[in-house]
Amino acid sequence: MHPDLKPLTAGLAAKFASLAGPHGALEAPSEILPYTQEPRGLYHGVSPLVLRPATVEQISAILHLAHEERIAIVPQGGNTGLVGGQVPFGGEIILSLSRMNRIREVDAAGNTLTVEAGATLAAVQEAAAAAGRLFPLSLGSEGSCQIGGNIASNAGGVHVLRYGNMRDLVLGLEAVLPGGAVIRGLKGLRKDNTGYDLKSLLIGSEGTLAVITAATLKLFPQPAEVATAFVGLPSLDAAGAFFSRASEGAGPLLTAFELIPRAILDFVFRHLPQHRDPLAAHYPWYALVEISSPLANGVAQRAALSILEAAMEAGTVADAAVAASEAQARDFWRLREAIVEAQKYEGGSIKHDVSVPVALIPAFIAEATAAVEALVPGARPVPFGHFGDGNIHFNVSQPVGGDTAADKDARRAAYLARWDEMQAMVHGIALKYGGSISAEHGIGRMKVDALAAIKSPAEMALLRGIKAAFDPRGVMNPGKVLV
Ligand SMILES: Cc1cc2nc3c(=O)[nH]c(=O)nc-3n(C[C@H](O)[C@H](O)[C@H](O)COP(=O)(O)OP(=O)(O)OC[C@H]3O[C@@H](n4cnc5c(N)ncnc54)[C@H](O)[C@@H]3O)c2cc1C
Repeated sequence: MHPDLKPLTAGLAAKFASLAGPHGALEAPSEILPYTQEPRGLYHGVSPLVLRPATVEQISAILHLAHEERIAIVPQGGNTGLVGGQVPFGGEIILSLSRMNRIREVDAAGNTLTVEAGATLAAVQEAAAAAGRLFPLSLGSEGSCQIGGNIASNAGGVHVLRYGNMRDLVLGLEAVLPGGAVIRGLKGLRKDNTGYDLKSLLIGSEGTLAVITAATLKLFPQPAEVATAFVGLPSLDAAGAFFSRASEGAGPLLTAFELIPRAILDFVFRHLPQHRDPLAAHYPWYALVEISSPLANGVAQRAALSILEAAMEAGTVADAAVAASEAQARDFWRLREAIVEAQKYEGGSIKHDVSVPVALIPAFIAEATAAVEALVPGARPVPFGHFGDGNIHFNVSQPVGGDTAADKDARRAAYLARWDEMQAMVHGIALKYGGSISAEHGIGRMKVDALAAIKSPAEMALLRGIKAAFDPRGVMNPGKVLV
């Protein structure tokens, strides 16, 4: 933590609480607790105070006082982040955006939507759909993650291949700086070259520079026709060849291409029996592919069928089920989402969110698999994810066997204790392939050291300079991204 930051006294806590307005502060430990735990249960934070302001003016007053008194603040959205960025590790105040959740405006003609930071992603998708438009960001956590959190973490998800990540979907931002100044940049302009792009700096800043309070987002036409296929693949190399064929055959209509290993489907069917295997036989790898078109002229369906037919002839696809209804397509996607939950029942899981050039994914997975199996004999790699944009969640479940109820927790803890060692190894392989150590989840607390290890001194100096320019007293989310 910044050496000049101060602890929160009772007197200051009362001042902060009054600035958050009626019902704007939580002080009882039982009310604070849910804000200090995160979804994986990896990090456990501590905080004396949660503020839930309802207006930009209240946030401005809170950040003014925080800056003046050198009190640390952790902005928090839906608390679904996976790198500990939203967790208060040093008794910071949590500033929750949950009560700032209004859709301010939907401009269907201009294809924009202006929304407060605390609206959930699902609420934004619904507001766009109600106006006959699409907001394309789509994540497993969309029911609870918030637009402010999506922007602060530059979220990705399953449609990056066609629509880009959050950075590509934000046209304007409103944000409050430490000290209380408000940046009012809610423009829906597609062109605006007026100096350094502050908006782009705030996107992906993980709460370390400012509090994002609202955004103007890009909307798209609703797809009129969607073809969804669950595809069995004979090998990992075949996944690469099939992806090339699908990109060529569908062009910009290819909206998702997710990779799923058989091993993780086995986890799902073992622990979540409500899910069904879409294909009769077993294959080592699968792809979940979506092709969509804004025109209802059968083009998406025809493209899907001709791509699959050609791939089967070439031997890169072994079998495929094309969804015959929206309900069946939803079932395919539910199966994809279930693979995140199913891993929890297989003991400890060491997770990596890496990206490499798409053509190198098979080589990366093969090398990383061999490396982790040599490091921890019996460890079970289950790499899955957004193949189409190069983002692989290279997750590794702990070895099976020998567990008794009595030593289960100890074995899990012993396995997770090897996280840093395994992470350094997998990151090293991703970097060797020209990849990234964080494709979409960010740096947060988890990868602070890893970031410092891969950036050059010149890059680190620039990052620290940007942090100091926005937040000279270091009150915004200390210990995250940079230390
Ligand atoms: C089941 C599951 C599936 C997921 N799938 C994906 C996926 O496919 N792609 C992906 O990218 N991520 C995914 N995630 C990770 C997570 O959901 C995203 O990172 C999401 O964007 C975080 O939003 P949030 O509102 O929960 O933010 P939080 O977790 O509350 O915060 C995340 C970071 O943003 C900062 N922050 C939050 N709100 C603000 C604000 N208003 N102003 C400034 N800073 C702020 C916090 O300080 C923190 O550093 C998944 C998570 C889960 C649990």
